[in-house]
Amino acid sequence: MLKGKTALITGSTSGIGFAIARALAQDGANIMLNGFGDKTAIEQIRAGIEKDFGVKARYSGADMTKPAEIADMVRTTEKEFGTLDVLVNNAGIQHVANIEDFPIEKWDAIIAINLSSSFHTIRAAVPGMKKRNWGRIINIASAHGLVASTQKVAYVSAKHGLVGLTKVVAMETANAGVTCNAICPGWVLTPLVQQQIDARAKASGGSVKDEAIKLLSEKQPMHEFTKPESIGALAVFLCSDAAETMTGSAYSIDGGWVAQ
Ligand code: NAD
Repeated sequence: MLKGKTALITGSTSGIGFAIARALAQDGANIMLNGFGDKTAIEQIRAGIEKDFGVKARYSGADMTKPAEIADMVRTTEKEFGTLDVLVNNAGIQHVANIEDFPIEKWDAIIAINLSSSFHTIRAAVPGMKKRNWGRIINIASAHGLVASTQKVAYVSAKHGLVGLTKVVAMETANAGVTCNAICPGWVLTPLVQQQIDARAKASGGSVKDEAIKLLSEKQPMHEFTKPESIGALAVFLCSDAAETMTGSAYSIDGGWVAQ
């Protein structure tokens, strides 16, 4: 389906972004990876995608807090592959603290990476998509794009902002063959969430396994983590012809979290 098309996935060296990159590659897309990590591990991810799916894969180390590096990453993708057709804004970080203790630099970093970087990628990618009359923009928001939790003021603000950004971009590109949607996962067991479970276990003195079950049951009627691969499959569907009129929406994949 995506053969000959190019997908750029921010934050795809780990977790959900990695799974989305592999799902889009399996569907035929060439891939531009992005994110931080060990050089050798990243090269293994890149080479693995080429070998497993017979597509081209490249890597950009652009820092999502740096607008100039983001613009350069989009330009490089278009130059390297000829087009940028699917943009997945996935890079994200978390910090947990009450607002009065929330470090200012953590607020700035979360807003930059989890929200502003999507403005910068979309701003740079939309002209090419409009020109080619085809594009798919997928913003990885969160259940926290729709509802709040304590101690996550920056994350919840950024993710609510990302859902708003999604709606505006959808309206502005509605008649240009471009769709823009948000995916709102509940708990997905990735390094980002594992850190939160480990911190809870340390604070309570309980086991990591018990804290994982508690974390799930506090928020989700369904006590299961969503698999990164399931989010990859949803992203592939949003790129399909069947999804061509799906735009401006936020799709929950959250074990019933926001149904309550
Ligand atoms: P992760 O920590 O496994 O991956 C985050 C990725 O972002 C990594 O590749 C990392 O290198 C990259 N990244 C971080 N800072 C960056 C920067 N400055 N520049 C470029 N790349 C940077 O996390 P994950 O759980 O896979 O999260 C991916 C996205 O999904 C995030 O936006 C997160 O908010 C969202 N999300 C996660 C969950 C969950 O339960 N894990 C739930 C809802 C939403």
